[in-house]
Amino acid sequence: MSEKTFAIHGDIVWSRDRANLQWAKDGYLVVVGGVSKGVFQELPAEYEGIEVIDHAGKLVIPGMTDIHVHAPQYGFRGLGMDLELLEWLNTHTFPEESKYANLEYADKAYGIFAGDLLHSPTTRAVVFGTMHVEPTELLMDKLESTGLKTYVGKVNMDRNSPDYLCEKDAATSLADTVRWLDDVEAKGYGNTRPILTPRFTPTCSDELMGGLGKLKQERGLPLQSHLSENLSEIDWVHGLCPWSSCYGQTYEHFGEMDGEGKVVMAHCNYSTDEEVAILKRHNVFVATCPQSNMQLSSGIAPIRRYLVEGVHVGLGTDVAGGATLSMFRAVADLVGCSKLRWRLVDQNLKPLSTAEALYIATVGGGSFFGKVGSFERGFEVDALVLDDSGIRTPLDCDPAERVERYMYLAEEGGRIVEKYVAGVRVL
Ligand SMILES: [Zn+2]
Repeated sequence: MSEKTFAIHGDIVWSRDRANLQWAKDGYLVVVGGVSKGVFQELPAEYEGIEVIDHAGKLVIPGMTDIHVHAPQYGFRGLGMDLELLEWLNTHTFPEESKYANLEYADKAYGIFAGDLLHSPTTRAVVFGTMHVEPTELLMDKLESTGLKTYVGKVNMDRNSPDYLCEKDAATSLADTVRWLDDVEAKGYGNTRPILTPRFTPTCSDELMGGLGKLKQERGLPLQSHLSENLSEIDWVHGLCPWSSCYGQTYEHFGEMDGEGKVVMAHCNYSTDEEVAILKRHNVFVATCPQSNMQLSSGIAPIRRYLVEGVHVGLGTDVAGGATLSMFRAVADLVGCSKLRWRLVDQNLKPLSTAEALYIATVGGGSFFGKVGSFERGFEVDALVLDDSGIRTPLDCDPAERVERYMYLAEEGGRIVEKYVAGVRVL
């Protein structure tokens, strides 16, 4: 039997579908070759003899996908949380990201980021680096060694950025991107893949946007960026691209949503009907980042609408717009933000349930990587084993209720005991 073949015994909870959690107290999650064969109340006879990892009394849940996180912003997380987006970028983000030109600084900072991500609830992530090639490769080296599965992007930005953090021109930015892609291919990573990363329309010239669209299609690459996060940003884009009918069209126009590779757009707080149609037309994943949207006074995404209309939605921490890598906290914030939107903005969109938020954090973002985020048969097994005995209560909660409380109270007494990615134990 391969090392990826085993069963985990414990109180197992997972998303059966978008709205419902399923659980098995004292159940067995059977993993063969890293893939789930299902969860069973008794270990089926055909699997007798496989290794059983006993976590009786502990919770076993799918690992989470952080579908939008900025590695070079991790160092200043928790600072500037009283600023708005564009002010926050100029005060904290751009000066900090410029430090990553220095490999020694990048080594130290990315070492901390990768180490903390390994110990977080995240098993997969879609990550922004900086515009610098070698430091981004260093980030990829460090993430590769954690065993977590990630997409990592070298950022493109050739306009409207401070002199100390701006690529010379579109040709230089594109040449650096090709050099980076070739380097990454030569390294032959097993867990870490490149993703094209125009920072956002305001910092990318038309020539750069077009070049990246072409590269995306030629190489079948995925792409990530930001979309309709903040009202001032949207006005800015309309000024820069007066020909566009909506912000989303500025990516579509340059071919950045075409080709085989998947696309993820962070936020989409203010997407118009036309923009939503673009998201659907290109199967774009919306990365919703509730904590960041609160901290930077950005807005509240209409996630219920996206679910109803069949738009893919994943959950992101957006560190350092969000202050923490905790996807547990992100799940709780997602539910809370959806309630505020319902109360204050649009009473036609009912709030999300915890089960729905958990689905978005697991299967929602996991789908960017394939069949990931559930324990239903056929899914790659990313799993967290959680000890919730420190979250004390006299109540006799069922496993799904314990998971719900864990999202809110993880810091009170929760502990990640083990972590698996595609059936491989990484923690
Ligand atoms: Zn972001």
